[in-house]
Amino acid sequence: MRDDRCVSDLAALLCAGPGLDLASIDTASTPGLPGKKAVRKNPKPWARGDLVSLGERLAIQQEMLYANFKTNGDRRRILLVLQAMDCGGKDGTIKKVAGALNPQGLRIAAFGPPTEQERRHDFLWRIRHAVPPPGMIGVFNRSHYEDVLVVRVRKLAPARVWRSRYQKINDFEEELAADGITLVKVMLHISLEEQRRRLLARLEDPTKHWKYRPEDVDNRAFWPAYQEAYQDVLARCGTDAAPWYVVPADRKWYRDWAVAHLMLQAFSGLGLRYPTASFDLERERKRLEEGTNK
Ligand code: ATP
Repeated sequence: MRDDRCVSDLAALLCAGPGLDLASIDTASTPGLPGKKAVRKNPKPWARGDLVSLGERLAIQQEMLYANFKTNGDRRRILLVLQAMDCGGKDGTIKKVAGALNPQGLRIAAFGPPTEQERRHDFLWRIRHAVPPPGMIGVFNRSHYEDVLVVRVRKLAPARVWRSRYQKINDFEEELAADGITLVKVMLHISLEEQRRRLLARLEDPTKHWKYRPEDVDNRAFWPAYQEAYQDVLARCGTDAAPWYVVPADRKWYRDWAVAHLMLQAFSGLGLRYPTASFDLERERKRLEEGTNK
């Protein structure tokens, strides 16, 4: 999966470079975990523990992002784009990763089938409206990629229409990047067997019945077509401005850890610092100590 355009460490390991073969990725694998014996022996509790610390570090980065916008008009922001097959774990990832952040600084948008109003516009119209403003972290639960995934697989538009969208998506994302947005595009990659287990688990737990849709089982017949469509997305829309990451997602504890880690790596690329005071610190301290209000 290595590729020159990828940054470092986990990002480099998970980045979908040209020629990536989705089928060759072990969806139960856990690339990038520290090699220490203690971690290897019992990776799940270690990853769950490290996720807490990653969440705390992400929350600090989030605050610095906002502080720089408030103080200097810094337009930068991070946008996490999550795509997955049904039961792929988008909701769980958002709960675990975004759950560690300040809700006020988050803009989370989910994209279902377009409404009548949305259908009257270009496919990127609703997406543009959901792009996070400066200083915010955005999360897309599904995205504009549905327009080259479900639309292609379920033949909701002619081939010439969805084929023309790859370039439009690349242009759009380049535009976002030029406006200060760091895109973290993640495909949560599960196996067909893991999807079956998760659907069964939903059936067995009455508190999960509301999540079960018989259509999801019908959809399983389209698995190979979806994999092909994902493969094309990774090949055509993994760009310098906005690379794709494939996170093996059968193990939930690894998935959450990896996504949090990718977010933190994206933040470190911004090199954020808390803004320095624009007032006379000593004078302000003196005024308060003396209680003069002058
Ligand atoms: P999820 O499956 O993401 O947890 P959900 O079951 O609550 O969500 P919705 O959010 O209502 O369902 O919609 C998700 C569905 O919308 C998916 O089947 C997805 O393929 C479909 N969808 C998303 N974008 C589009 C699009 N542009 N055109 C057609 N269908 C779309």
